[in-house]
Amino acid sequence: MRLSVIGCGYLGAVHAAAMASIGHDVVGIDVDAEKVGSLSRGEAPFFEPQLQEILQAGLESGRLSFSTDMSSVRGAAVHFIGVGTPQQAGGYAADLRYVDGAVSELLPYLQPGDIVAGKSTVPVGTAARLAELVTPTGATLVWNPEFLREGWAVQDTIDPDRLVTGVPSGPEGAVAADVLRKVYHPAVAKGTPFIVTDYATAELVKVAANAFLATKISFINAMAEISETVGADVTQLADAIGHDPRIGRRFLGAGIGFGGGCLPKDIRAFAARAEELGRRESVNFLREVDAINLRRRERAVQLVVEGLGGAVYGKRIAVLGAAFKPHSDDVRDSPALDVAVRLHGLGAEVVVTDPEALHNARALHPQLTYFEDRDEALRGSDAVVVVTEWDQYRREMSPAEVSDLASGRVIVDGRNCLDPSAWRSAGWTYLGMGRP
Ligand code: NAD
Repeated sequence: MRLSVIGCGYLGAVHAAAMASIGHDVVGIDVDAEKVGSLSRGEAPFFEPQLQEILQAGLESGRLSFSTDMSSVRGAAVHFIGVGTPQQAGGYAADLRYVDGAVSELLPYLQPGDIVAGKSTVPVGTAARLAELVTPTGATLVWNPEFLREGWAVQDTIDPDRLVTGVPSGPEGAVAADVLRKVYHPAVAKGTPFIVTDYATAELVKVAANAFLATKISFINAMAEISETVGADVTQLADAIGHDPRIGRRFLGAGIGFGGGCLPKDIRAFAARAEELGRRESVNFLREVDAINLRRRERAVQLVVEGLGGAVYGKRIAVLGAAFKPHSDDVRDSPALDVAVRLHGLGAEVVVTDPEALHNARALHPQLTYFEDRDEALRGSDAVVVVTEWDQYRREMSPAEVSDLASGRVIVDGRNCLDPSAWRSAGWTYLGMGRP
């Protein structure tokens, strides 16, 4: 099938390349000429495992191309909308200007029978509003939210857990759902659940999933706060409750909390939308989820201060990690970088390292010092803080190695990803999150 993907960021670039990799002819559109240039040369504009490979293969096959010119979408049967929906400046609601802009720029090129498939995460009610613009062209709007995880985006796009498509009522909705089944043919053929809903349900599925995940993380972080007060160990607590299959161990890693371009802004936008709908009380808990999450960043800073005897001023601190999670270079609302910035604000000499995210981190926070090389960052440090659980820090860094480089013997484990006994027996003061 011929497809277009409008918006080629973390979601759209992966979607375009993944759709080409399963045999479709795809054109990706973005307003950012630099991004389009880099994608057209086969250079992934951000780090995402496997993206480079499928991007190059798609370009070589002739099935994948990129353009800044919206008219290149002509002839595509399905137009995916993957533009950003960031948090509004000065508010919690989603900023829909990019989605609205992309749809109105697309309208002149739509043909009767085309499908416009929204993938961006939007407040409930957006699809119904946009359908009023799309339907008069003879095209059908569907909402097909995306559940990919950065770091696993290619795999999640090609082989998702489930596919959700919100369609209009009536025969055109059923026809559109069948077209989407054809688009996602390999996943559908292997029996991946394909759930057809109305617009509102599809929009809500996405924000509900993110709200649940954020709540699970903040739940265990709340237990970490209590554990800190009573001297309990939250990692043992998580293991113990996680054995209950109704609870499950995943997403119960206490630490400095969630961040990135989705969870924080999505729960805020959900709460803002609920308030507009007169349902503030239904998701009021999300404000608490957000507050717990943000407190854990400050807690990590506090541990560094305590570890260094009450002040960090003039101390050299190696911050290991900048990305909001491993296998990604995304630093949007990254708790890792936030901890680094707060320590810098307290007068510490902060040295940040990360295997993939330094370019983005430097652009956002040029006031920090960055080292590509982990060992250079560690050399001469008074304290070490692990804030992104890359294997390079979690598995491939021994206390003996770090002892040869660092001046001090304080390590703060912002992700509870290290073995406390290994560090303590090597003479280190190990401080974890919610661990005695
Ligand atoms: P992003 O900022 O990386 O990408 C958005 C892209 O859209 C940018 O490249 C921008 O230049 C482009 N754009 C803006 N206006 C445009 C227009 N009128 N025409 C063409 N291109 C335009 O954002 P992202 O992380 O890819 O997120 C996109 C959407 O997908 C958001 O709604 C997000 O919530 C959702 N989502 C993201 C992820 C993820 O892991 N990143 C996962 C699921 C859902």
